[in-house]
Amino acid sequence: MNIPVSVGPMNEGERIRKPDMYVELAGPKSFGFELVKVVDNAEDKVEVIGKELDEMKEGERHPFAIIVKVSGDNLEEELEGVLERRIHEFFNYIEGVMHLNQRDQIWIRIGKESFKKGLRLKHIGEVVKQLFKEEFPFIKSCEVTIITDPEKIKEELEKAKEIYKKRDERTRALKEEDVDVFYGCIMCQSFAPTHVCVITPDRPALCGGINYLDARAAAKIDPNGPIFEIPKGECLDETLGVYSGVNEVVSERSQGSVESFCLHSALNNPCTSCGCFEAVVFYIPEVDGFGVVHRNFKGETPLGLPFSSIAGQCSGGKQVPGFVGVSIGYMMSPKFLQGDGGWKRVVWLPKELKERIKEAIPEELYDKIATEEDVSSVDELIKFLKEKGHPIVESLGKEEVEEVKEEKEEEDIKVPEISIPGEFAGLPPGIKIVLYNCIIKAEKIVITKEKEPKK
Ligand code: SF4
Ligand SMILES: [Zn+2]
Repeated sequence: MNIPVSVGPMNEGERIRKPDMYVELAGPKSFGFELVKVVDNAEDKVEVIGKELDEMKEGERHPFAIIVKVSGDNLEEELEGVLERRIHEFFNYIEGVMHLNQRDQIWIRIGKESFKKGLRLKHIGEVVKQLFKEEFPFIKSCEVTIITDPEKIKEELEKAKEIYKKRDERTRALKEEDVDVFYGCIMCQSFAPTHVCVITPDRPALCGGINYLDARAAAKIDPNGPIFEIPKGECLDETLGVYSGVNEVVSERSQGSVESFCLHSALNNPCTSCGCFEAVVFYIPEVDGFGVVHRNFKGETPLGLPFSSIAGQCSGGKQVPGFVGVSIGYMMSPKFLQGDGGWKRVVWLPKELKERIKEAIPEELYDKIATEEDVSSVDELIKFLKEKGHPIVESLGKEEVEEVKEEKEEEDIKVPEISIPGEFAGLPPGIKIVLYNCIIKAEKIVITKEKEPKK
């Protein structure tokens, strides 16, 4: 089949903004999913169930699902997660197609130009089919079904969710200490060039699409692919989750921009975040605790910011102390944030997320963690935590006492005069200065523009 637009890695990273968009498929305001299934006898074909692109109107939003069945010798169920994650890449290879996220979180946009050139869903299906067979020669036949019929998607979505759940459960019995190697993934470096995911039995990748067993299967079958082995090396700090092998590989694969990862901390050398994370952990300095917000949460966190603003703080492959992108699967591990005190430091969760991971939250803490229904600001959060007797309140009290003491001592100290170089105020526009974990106390701050020296 002839594809009317270009297909290849040069199109990766292409963003389709609203004015250039023909239609939006799935996404946060609609629904959908992607799924790869290993079956015994897939037929080599592409099918579209529901409306084709030319039956949709410009500017519309439609539900969307893609189910890819693959057959071949040595194909194991364990590979499904990893093959499925490649759909993201294959879609983004197509000119005028933008694909974000994974599983039942996918979000796709089709560009006007490519639609005008003749691009249709059947072509997208054909590209996916061909690329799967080219990239994985052990796939003998590939059957792609694209669905835009909302009722059919709803029906299939429930089945897909069951499959995702089973996949995640399979790896839960394994622990970090049981294995000698972890896995790394750099698939997202196309848009987050310094990002490296470290996947351990306790820490499924932040996109939620690849767990430890998925990664192991992928590295075995495609040793030169984006997923690779990381020998653990020496354990330098068990609680924080620091390993010499991880640090070596991360430093090499992030082109030297990140030197060390603490796998289980959001405050000390946290892992980098690309942008596909299922949830973000964020530090709330006023209570010295953490909130976690997931992608589907539509409201505001107690910081007054929605998911998207918080996500913006740490995406793009940056290591930002105080923020870390995580998968929901990682929240189910007993090692979740253990380097920062674990669940005892978690003070806020959206209600939906809290219910979803109920079994992972220590029983005695469950009612002490606030949701959007309990509080809508940091002040209200502090009040809630005190009322409920959240363990963090103990340390809150201590800090207040310490602060008073410090202030008394400060009274006798003479503060030296400090001058800031003139260039400081003359920074070019667009530069952002971010201060973390920093308290600035001043009676008055005056910033004036330096006059041009007379010539
Ligand atoms: S988020 Fe991580 S594991 Fe998932 S595809 Fe990107 S780099 Fe790989
Ligand atoms: Zn990513």
